[in-house]
Amino acid sequence: MSDSGTREHLARAAKLLAPCRRLLVLAGAGLSADAGVPTFRGEGGIWNEYRAEDLASPEGFAQDPELVWDWYRERRLHIASCQPHAGQRAIALLQQHFPAARVLMATTNEDDLLERAGVRDVVHLHGSLFSTRCTACAWEDDDHDDNALSLMPCPRCGATVRPGSVWFNEPLPRLALDRLEEFDPDGCLLVGSSCLVQPAAGIPLDLQVHGHPVVEVNPEVTPLSEVVACSIRGPARDLLPPLTDLLTSSIVRDQARRQE
Ligand SMILES: [Zn+2]
Repeated sequence: MSDSGTREHLARAAKLLAPCRRLLVLAGAGLSADAGVPTFRGEGGIWNEYRAEDLASPEGFAQDPELVWDWYRERRLHIASCQPHAGQRAIALLQQHFPAARVLMATTNEDDLLERAGVRDVVHLHGSLFSTRCTACAWEDDDHDDNALSLMPCPRCGATVRPGSVWFNEPLPRLALDRLEEFDPDGCLLVGSSCLVQPAAGIPLDLQVHGHPVVEVNPEVTPLSEVVACSIRGPARDLLPPLTDLLTSSIVRDQARRQE
């Protein structure tokens, strides 16, 4: 996509999304990859010797909890050394300044880069990498600083603790899905994701079918690219700042008001 082509697409995307009153930003691995967070197990490294199910499933954890915890501790440390990028900060700005509209951020990423970028109330569809919870009772806590909670039994009941992530063969957290449903979006900005897991994957298509605008930002063509109202090729890090500029500018706001 040429520079002028990208500019045209951004202008079109802003025009489509400007009238939204409840804008859902739905992000997948591409958004975090731009900040240097490896996708799943990353390139090379010892973790590629393991099957995904060995590292991220209830069965794998039952088999070898220490192995799973080693992997999680390493990822926590790695993410602590990553910094949020301009695209993630742009979402925080959009949330604060998108006029007369609410912006809900939902993601399948488990890292905390959006929170560190200043995005509020992030819905983590796959849980948080930094939460530690009990395998037996409802105890759960944030384990941000030193992984200390991962090293001891549950403080409430004494059972083994596990990472708070949503694993293979586990349902998405009901609370997160309820929040998406309650929000009842009337537009969607889909970032860096081609194959969000069901049932979240159905949201952009459902909105599109009901005549609400869906804008996709992705370096690759995805199965949704042909279907959505506007698809822009490129990394979120480069495209979200100018899109946010447009969406928070008075010109786009006035246009949106005239359309009402
Ligand atoms: Zn417990």
